[in-house]
Amino acid sequence: MRSKLALAGLMVAAAASLAPAPVPPMKNPVPLRPFPRSAPPVPHIPPPLSEIAPSDADGAVPLPRPRPQAAPDGLANLGVPSIGAGPEPQPLTPCFLALTAEIGVAEPAPPIALPNSCDALDVVKLSAVNLDRRRLTLTPPALLRCPMAGALANWMRTDVAAIAQTFGAPLKGFDNYESFECRGRNRIAGAKTSEHGKANALDIRAVLLEDGRRVELTDPEVPKEFRDSMRASACDRFATVLGPGSDGYHESHIHVDLAERRNNYKLCQWDVRVLVIPLPRPRPAEAPPREEL
Ligand SMILES: [Zn+2]
Repeated sequence: MRSKLALAGLMVAAAASLAPAPVPPMKNPVPLRPFPRSAPPVPHIPPPLSEIAPSDADGAVPLPRPRPQAAPDGLANLGVPSIGAGPEPQPLTPCFLALTAEIGVAEPAPPIALPNSCDALDVVKLSAVNLDRRRLTLTPPALLRCPMAGALANWMRTDVAAIAQTFGAPLKGFDNYESFECRGRNRIAGAKTSEHGKANALDIRAVLLEDGRRVELTDPEVPKEFRDSMRASACDRFATVLGPGSDGYHESHIHVDLAERRNNYKLCQWDVRVLVIPLPRPRPAEAPPREEL
């Protein structure tokens, strides 16, 4: 009996020791901080816009960074492995890192390596361009080489948004008619691979405004001043601009690309057409006198 009482006493004592003891208030409480889940993030300093793509030389926009002397031509200096290097994740290139969230909404895409010389490294899917607190969309998102995406972002942010203000409504974005597509030029079988097959070109049909308006770039009823300004800025920024009057394949859209040519030769072929209103035929001399009504 005594031993049972002693055992019960021990159990009560043990239970008491397991119960949470009241915690006295701290004299100098330390504010709680969230526990870091991983290493602290490295602060990101957005590079200047000029590092993304060429810009105009009128002094309003900074000039592109000079190419390092030892850098080879093309994309090889962007630090991406050659096609067929394996399924390893592709390193982020300087161009992609320069395409910050301040500038646009882009995500890296796998390199393109298809037959018929359809290939491209440093490919991104660009879905929007950011300007101040607004988002200028590409509908649908464009699959482009990063330098082409950067040139497009610069053009939209710097030029197109300002030119579109003539309509009294903010720019909403571009109608993306086509970006990457593996095909020959002008869809002709056996023709030289189009810059679209290199993810280096974009076709645009219309500028979209926030108020819902859609402004066709090749519509002769759209104010000529707007289309003249769009033509001038596009030809300034891109290596190739094709529109109505170029080759018969660009009557309903504008093509822009960054094709590399000897001596940086540029092609700017876009006839900004005006609406021709047919005049009434002259009244024949033998016609009877007009009746007064
Ligand atoms: Zn095109």
